[in-house]
Amino acid sequence: MTDLMEAVTSLAKRRGFAFPSSEIYGGLRSSWDYGPLGVELRNNIRRAWWRSMVQLRDDVVGLEAAILMSPRVWEASGHVAGFSDPLVECLNCHQRFRQDQLPGPACPNCGQKEFTEPRQFNLMFKTHMGPVEEDAAAVYLRPETAQAMFVDFRTIQQASRMKVPFGIAQIGKAFRNEITPSNFVFRTREFELMEVEYFVEPGADEQWFEYWKEERLRWFLSLGVRPEKLRLRAHASDELAHYAKAAADIEYEFPFGWSELEGIANRTDFDLRRHQEASGEDLTYFDQEGDRRYLPFVVEPALGVDRAFLTFLLDAYRVGEAKSAKGEMEKRTVLALHRDLAPIKVAVLPLSRNEALVPEARRVHDVVKARWMSAYDDAGAIGRRYRRQDEVGTPFCVTVDFETLTDGQVTVRERDAMTQDRISIDRLAAYLQERLAA
Ligand code: ATP
Repeated sequence: MTDLMEAVTSLAKRRGFAFPSSEIYGGLRSSWDYGPLGVELRNNIRRAWWRSMVQLRDDVVGLEAAILMSPRVWEASGHVAGFSDPLVECLNCHQRFRQDQLPGPACPNCGQKEFTEPRQFNLMFKTHMGPVEEDAAAVYLRPETAQAMFVDFRTIQQASRMKVPFGIAQIGKAFRNEITPSNFVFRTREFELMEVEYFVEPGADEQWFEYWKEERLRWFLSLGVRPEKLRLRAHASDELAHYAKAAADIEYEFPFGWSELEGIANRTDFDLRRHQEASGEDLTYFDQEGDRRYLPFVVEPALGVDRAFLTFLLDAYRVGEAKSAKGEMEKRTVLALHRDLAPIKVAVLPLSRNEALVPEARRVHDVVKARWMSAYDDAGAIGRRYRRQDEVGTPFCVTVDFETLTDGQVTVRERDAMTQDRISIDRLAAYLQERLAA
């Protein structure tokens, strides 16, 4: 099964989805760069999430807050005191590990069984603001985007005139000084979060917690993730984060085992209460109908873009066989990505570089690129060009051949069924629209 991880990591690098950062200097462990196709896939993931969580709902509004916030935020939120993982060091080889992630009693590096006592290691990156390097100027890179939704709660509620229950959504970078980053982009020190803080009346929190678990599971299914690879797992009480009353993970069966893909937490009124106390500002919500004030409870679905990216790639990776032009069976790698996620929606392929075909193919490409992310490829045998598009998940290939010049039609090949339809260029946009529209 680790073969799958290797195959996907290697495809990701070879085709420009993602590769190690600063590689010419040997890389920086746990930092990854997203190349041309990776950027498209990430944009599509963010867009699908935003569409489902904000645009298609009446009860969620957006926010894009600064990464650097007042250090008082992280004191009040409990992150300075409590956002830590238990760190142990092997007494023999001095490698460091996160105690709760050790696979067994022995050191994964040298096999010895003696470790230091665990010490709490704070995961926040600390830096200095302005030209003075003293503690008074210390700021943190945010380890979650959620805190901005809490400290901006009143301003946003008033500006948007939203009534509880409602949510605030944000997508943005977060930083955690993870002890053991691992598994490609599964766990990194810089990553991107997509979070909603959903504010509800106290007492309605448990019901909304149930709602969000189902709703988030549905989102992955709607984007084609195989149901047998997904499950919900409730946190045991000793696993809960310092702010949570209940939490559940949507887990995916990764090649390295079932692991958290997305977390859903019932954060109660913990954060608003702490910020109200620490800032001295009134953060209560006035419920006009009930004629009363209260601090809302919060349910939070939180998903990493990078972890979703890895999941979609792994889940879509298929290896099969197909007949080559010479009639031989060949290996065929396909990324069966949902059309909304596919980095390139349509590729235009002239049968050859013939000088009559190229201008016609360019005209067809102009029609396509006006609407969709597309590619134009005229290099090499047509069969090989199909394979190249299959491997990156392009749903449709449009071939321009010599008959096109007389009948004004092109061949549209669909990735999964490999069906081929002959379509007139006049109808091409409508044909694709019908099949690509969300
Ligand atoms: P863990 O206990 O595994 O370190 P966590 O439970 O603290 O993680 P959450 O705070 O629930 O993680 O994070 C919410 C989501 O953010 C995760 O489900 C995951 O999708 C993403 N995420 C968290 N940490 C990382 C990371 N280091 N790299 C990539 N994605 C991450």
